[in-house]
Amino acid sequence: MLDTVSGRADSAGIFVDRLRKTFRGGGVVACDDVTLDLPDGELLVLLGPSGCGKTTTLRCIAGLERPDNEDAIWVRGRNLAGIAPKDRNLAYVFQATALFPHLSVRRNISFGLDMKRKLPRAEIDRRVAEAARLLHIDELLDRQPRELSGGQGQRVALGRAVVMEPDAFLLDEPFAALDAALRFEMRTEIKLIQRRLQTTMIFVTHDQEEALTLGDKIAVMNEGVVQQLASPEAVYNAPANLFVATFIGSPQINLLRGALSGNNGAPAFAGSGLTIPLPDALAQRLPAGELTMGVRPEAIDLNPLSAIATGTVALVELLGSQSLVLLRAGDLELRGLVQGQPDIGEGADVSFGIDPTKALFFGPDGDRIALD
Ligand code: ATP
Repeated sequence: MLDTVSGRADSAGIFVDRLRKTFRGGGVVACDDVTLDLPDGELLVLLGPSGCGKTTTLRCIAGLERPDNEDAIWVRGRNLAGIAPKDRNLAYVFQATALFPHLSVRRNISFGLDMKRKLPRAEIDRRVAEAARLLHIDELLDRQPRELSGGQGQRVALGRAVVMEPDAFLLDEPFAALDAALRFEMRTEIKLIQRRLQTTMIFVTHDQEEALTLGDKIAVMNEGVVQQLASPEAVYNAPANLFVATFIGSPQINLLRGALSGNNGAPAFAGSGLTIPLPDALAQRLPAGELTMGVRPEAIDLNPLSAIATGTVALVELLGSQSLVLLRAGDLELRGLVQGQPDIGEGADVSFGIDPTKALFFGPDGDRIALD
């Protein structure tokens, strides 16, 4: 509607206004009412499971798909309805690097500038040299694409985007094909580059860990709908609903289905075969009726001052500096996270605690109940 649009038309970054995109005559809804407000210079991660509409959203911004509501996309105050992809001044990088096999790295990087702009040669050379330095590929400029590793190829693809000096970078799972170590390295580097250039960036991934480490903000999507748009801290600590709570965080959050109970006068949450005492102040803020209690693995305490129950250790998995302890308790297998390698064997019975003040509570509709 006009009021929202005019209110954002002078937004310096990217504004997506209730984007709707359907395919097959409306039979497939890829994006449903997607609104994203990204200030200039920020890095937004679009995160969600396969098929949730991330790529379609990005392609609509790039102009590669036409939204049902064509005027949904704004960049730097300009409405992009009817503007061809090449005139949007956006750089789109995706997993398949699509380098020209017969051109050198140098020519691959400068290709867009050679084609589109009447820039002096010296300026093109300057930009290529600067991008190559930034991406640590100065040594590779005279190679052919077939002489590059996967990671180097992605750097070249990024270089091609960087020299265009776009209003924004749109990156669609650019590192998905790389091995874990290289992905990690590129992730850090892309963040440093984005900080250095201060260019607005939208980065698509289905990897929640990648999203948490990269994003200034994360838009979590499911079935074409943005579930939450917030900082990494907020989506982790204050997820909008059960979908976000379970999608973000590894190992996954524990969910106990139940309700408030009296527990001989003392307030408690009873669910999934466990009874967890609650402080009065917390219990008073929770509604009666069906509730889901969400407990992050790090809130399971295996050296508790006051235990709430005992469980049997089903599995201990070393994750590096921490270990995952799978605990059979009540009707559940609880995931607990402990520092180091705990001195407990599989099959052992252990007492454990849960700090209820660290728990999240969700109503029957799946939305988180705000307690602050
Ligand atoms: P992935 O992580 O697997 O790439 P995604 O979140 O990027 O998934 P999209 O590719 O945006 O998801 O697809 C969203 C939905 O739209 C899916 O159900 C997909 O099948 C559908 N879709 C996408 N493109 C088309 C198309 N050209 N024709 C018909 N349906 C499409």
